[in-house]
Amino acid sequence: MNNPARKNYDHLIVGAGFAGSVCARMLAEAGRKVLLIDRRDHFGGNAYDRVDEHGVLIHPYGPHIFHTNSKRVFEFLSRFTDWRFYEHRVLAQVGEQLLPIPINRTTINKLYGLSLTGDEVQAYLDSVRQPRSPLATSEDVVLNSVGPDLCDKFFRGYTKKQWGLDLSELSAGVAARIPTRNDDDDRYFGDSFQFIPAAGYGRMFERMLDHPGIELRLNCDFRELRAEPPAEHIVYTGPIDAFFDHCHGPLPYRSLRFDHQHLADVEQFQQVGTVNYPNDHDYTRITEFKHLTGQQHAGTSIVREYPQAEGDPYYPIPRPENEALYKRYAELAEQQQGVTFVGRLAQYRYYNMDQIVATALKACEEILA
Ligand code: FAD
Ligand code: UDP
Repeated sequence: MNNPARKNYDHLIVGAGFAGSVCARMLAEAGRKVLLIDRRDHFGGNAYDRVDEHGVLIHPYGPHIFHTNSKRVFEFLSRFTDWRFYEHRVLAQVGEQLLPIPINRTTINKLYGLSLTGDEVQAYLDSVRQPRSPLATSEDVVLNSVGPDLCDKFFRGYTKKQWGLDLSELSAGVAARIPTRNDDDDRYFGDSFQFIPAAGYGRMFERMLDHPGIELRLNCDFRELRAEPPAEHIVYTGPIDAFFDHCHGPLPYRSLRFDHQHLADVEQFQQVGTVNYPNDHDYTRITEFKHLTGQQHAGTSIVREYPQAEGDPYYPIPRPENEALYKRYAELAEQQQGVTFVGRLAQYRYYNMDQIVATALKACEEILA
């Protein structure tokens, strides 16, 4: 029998989300023996999906839509899944209206009862925007592109709910995720590859982890192994402050409560995958999964996201003081021998799935160099 206290593996990987699973696969393919652990009872991290008790494929940790401009990332994942073409569309409820977000020509025309052409929309935005330089905060970004009225209607309330902070307290990168358009493009993302794994994220991870060099141990917390890790090298994808026992104080992460609901007698709950609620309600958005997955089912399953300070860490909170605290942990990480820190929580970066895959592939190249 394996004694986990012995160095039976080349690598211990902490966390079986995108970061840990991609590293596990890459290292195993290079002939390494990998122990991959996760404290949860499933792999896939926050991108995990499962069929609920009513037979609908849901994302327990909120909607996950894959999009990337990286051919390398797309090709890597394509080894483990077929894809369903899916372009995400989002409407925002403003007053009684449901309007496209990102703000586009339709948004402006419907909101203000106008019929502007693309050029006229651009001229309108130019007339209301408040040029700011530098674009330091998310408020700068939004006011610089759409001005105060659209900012208040679409961004300020949503952001306050989502982060518990004003737009002016968040780094520019947060709001910069949302473009502004003067045409009728109503897609949430503009990337060249926009797909959902055809049989779900779970199946994709299952295939990624199906390699003789990978041993997966679920319900296993790193704390149980850290005194005597069973490998010389560790890939750590959990929160970086926890790795160092919060010695510089806790890094703030934003959490969410997911309120899942099944509606047995409703075939379609809403027009599009996600509806955002920037101004009303305590939740930020409602997602109906069948839009994402294309599943046919007589009923439907939806999720409401309620942001909160406490709970599982889901988002790093991008603002200068948090970045400064992270840097202190990153310095410790630099000095730490035999540990590679990869992932959204370990690198304290507001990364999408594709960015995590790219970062993990790069980290493995360095480990194997
Ligand atoms: P995680 O998925 O968080 O995995 C880390 C794993 O480490 C977890 O499973 C955790 O249990 C485990 N772990 C932590 N500490 C320990 C420990 N001590 N011992 C053992 N295991 C441990 N990205 C997109 O590209 N498109 C989207 O539409 C999208 N939507 C999102 C919606 C929400 C609500 C959220 C929260 C995120 C969304 N993302 C989206 C981002 C995406 O979830 C992340 O980029 C990606 O899942 C991060 O992967 P990761 O492996 O770094 O982290
Ligand atoms: N945002 C907003 N209104 C919206 C959508 C987004 O104010 O209708 C802002 C908000 O601060 C949010 C950020 O833009 O946190 C990024 O939005 P995104 O949809 O990318 O967030 P995620 O899907 O990562 O939660």
